[in-house]
Amino acid sequence: MATFGNLSARLTDTFKNLRAKGKLSAADVDGTVREIRRALLEADVALEVVKEFTAKVRERALGDEVNRALNPAQQVVQIVNEELVGILGGEQRRLRFAKNPPTVIMLAGLQGAGKTTLAGKLAKWLRDQGHTPLLVACDLQRPNAVTQLKVVGEQAGAAVFAPHPGNTGAGEDATSGDPVRVAKDGIAEARAKQHDFVIVDTAGRLGVDAELMRQAGDIRRAIDPDEVLFVIDAMIGQDAVATARAFQESVDFTGVVLTKLDGDARGGAALSIRSLTGRPILFASTGEGLGDFEPFHPDRMASRILD
Ligand code: GDP
Repeated sequence: MATFGNLSARLTDTFKNLRAKGKLSAADVDGTVREIRRALLEADVALEVVKEFTAKVRERALGDEVNRALNPAQQVVQIVNEELVGILGGEQRRLRFAKNPPTVIMLAGLQGAGKTTLAGKLAKWLRDQGHTPLLVACDLQRPNAVTQLKVVGEQAGAAVFAPHPGNTGAGEDATSGDPVRVAKDGIAEARAKQHDFVIVDTAGRLGVDAELMRQAGDIRRAIDPDEVLFVIDAMIGQDAVATARAFQESVDFTGVVLTKLDGDARGGAALSIRSLTGRPILFASTGEGLGDFEPFHPDRMASRILD
């Protein structure tokens, strides 16, 4: 995975230096922790997350488990691995299914984060497991969004519920319709046609914006989804903190999807988001194709970073 290339290389170097030593002094541990701190900050991991992470690693690395270890350096690497798994969420968190279908999944995030693409990926993933998702086009801001959702729906073999003049309450112009109404109508359609999943695509803006946040909050309250997934571009860097907080306040998301993990960005958002929001990462997107998508496994991601 290209995203963590630099971070991986930095950590590998740090651990190589450490392995050259036999027993570890407190100064060795401090030097290593300093290097890890620098590598994480360079990867754009949020400062508060870096501080907490390095404090934990330092405390454990100076403790008995390393002192008693046959190979102290290896033990430190093991500790870093465990703590990485920890900040990535520990156990895998699976998608929640509603007791009474349909399971309603709402997508929220900035424009360009990859929501519409994700709607298609999720639909395909669900279809591959025998489900019958309905995609609902509530992004009425971006003129092309409805068409784009129809295209990905078709690629995924999933039905799409889209506003057309007359069912948006907006007369002829679908883009000025009421997304709350479209969301509700879409769910009613799913019930009527016995779809067991509904994926609601919502509008994003280029930056955090009060109107967008209000709209997303309105949709969430109106349809009470089983999952609200916050879609975030792994390349967003330090803006991850403010963006995640704003969306958490407006839509109180239940989980996170990381997109563009195939890029060569530094990946700080991926490592920060769980600690910053307390919400689990459910899926990872790794390309533009509908198949470039997988459930997120904290332990596998940590291993890739430390590869
Ligand atoms: P939205 O505005 O949030 O709905 O974002 P889109 O789904 O339209 O995606 C914005 C752009 O990012 C499109 O060009 C997508 O093809 C691209 N994209 C989405 N997910 C990924 C991903 O995981 N990797 C890469 N490389 N590109 C992606």
